[in-house]
Amino acid sequence: MAADLPTISTDALIHELMTLAQISAAEPPVVTRVVFSEADMRARAYVKQLCTDAGLALSQDAVGNTFARWQGSQPDLAPVGTGSHIDAIPNAGLYDGCVGVLGGLEAIRTLQRQGFKPRRSIELVIFTAEEPTRFGIGCLGSRMMAGVLTVDQARKLRDSEGNGLEELRTQAGFTGVLESVHVSYGRFNQFVELHIEQGPHLEREKLDVGLVTHIAAPASQWITIEGEGGHAGGMLMPGRKDALAAAAELILVLETAAKSTGADDTVGTVGICEVFPGAVNSIPSRVRLTTDVRDIDGPRRDSVIHALDVAVRKVRERRGVRITTEMINADPPTTSDQAILAALEASAIDAGKSYKRMVARAYHDSSFVSGIAPVAMLFIPCRDGVSHRPDEYASPEWIANGVDVLARTLARLAA
Ligand SMILES: [Zn+2]
Repeated sequence: MAADLPTISTDALIHELMTLAQISAAEPPVVTRVVFSEADMRARAYVKQLCTDAGLALSQDAVGNTFARWQGSQPDLAPVGTGSHIDAIPNAGLYDGCVGVLGGLEAIRTLQRQGFKPRRSIELVIFTAEEPTRFGIGCLGSRMMAGVLTVDQARKLRDSEGNGLEELRTQAGFTGVLESVHVSYGRFNQFVELHIEQGPHLEREKLDVGLVTHIAAPASQWITIEGEGGHAGGMLMPGRKDALAAAAELILVLETAAKSTGADDTVGTVGICEVFPGAVNSIPSRVRLTTDVRDIDGPRRDSVIHALDVAVRKVRERRGVRITTEMINADPPTTSDQAILAALEASAIDAGKSYKRMVARAYHDSSFVSGIAPVAMLFIPCRDGVSHRPDEYASPEWIANGVDVLARTLARLAA
């Protein structure tokens, strides 16, 4: 790819981002767009129209994942994929996900204006429900494409009002059978997702883009400890079964295990610790806590969880308390594809953009797309690392930098 790509139509792209942001269940600039809500359906319609205007061929699967295809000269080859999501948690901003969708579209239009003719088709994807707001599970669309969430599990999903995924998606017009959502490996030849960093590092280091080498994945669980309550004065120390004291041991084991892997990328957190009955003069009889362990290396992450399991058995026996654990999720971390990273790096150099390789520390659709294609992600800065808030912000220049590198990368991968 020559270094002389026409400039990104930044003004048009920002206008589209702002227009999309107006399609919200909350008063703009607050963005609230829950999957299959009226706002989500209007937002999809808007983006689909933009894709049609760009001459892309639309299709959608049974859960609403939407594909806008720019046909290549060899249409039988697996396409190059790009894209992200346009659903938004309540009280969100306008850049998370949308930069990857509308920025991906602008990357395609930029290549079209340049007269580039892709050999492989390029497909822009809008994934259904990256955010867990409605069904309590993140990356619903990409999970189902990869078969990580089975159809049986999907059929059981309900929102807080008891509406099932089946009825909601059919009402939204996605009527195929859910079985057809799962696709096999090779659905895309390669997939690259543009996204805001949702952390402060690129802005702090004044870098234009981040090339994501790994996506760290959380493993999280509930741990419930049942001991014996009683009067804090009346019950003497020998023979006590204090559930909170037992919990304290586990929390410290988690911290020590996460610190002792020798890697900065291992992190372990207890974010919730509910104590029952929660009175000054009452021995805690029951504690419920969550653990969240993340790493870019699956076995290393699991070693922390194993250390915790060992501690659970020891504490249970020594203190005579009941301890039950329930895994909430444990998805594997993702390693980016070296060939896509090389294309991203060459494109950043061509475009004259500063960059570094970095780790993504939140979930993204790409985590699951890695089950059906080689993936990598491209990050742009966001102000103060703020995301999932109305004051989320990425400057037009930052966005244009990302789209520029993405366009050049797509051209390399589709040539
Ligand atoms: Zn996102």
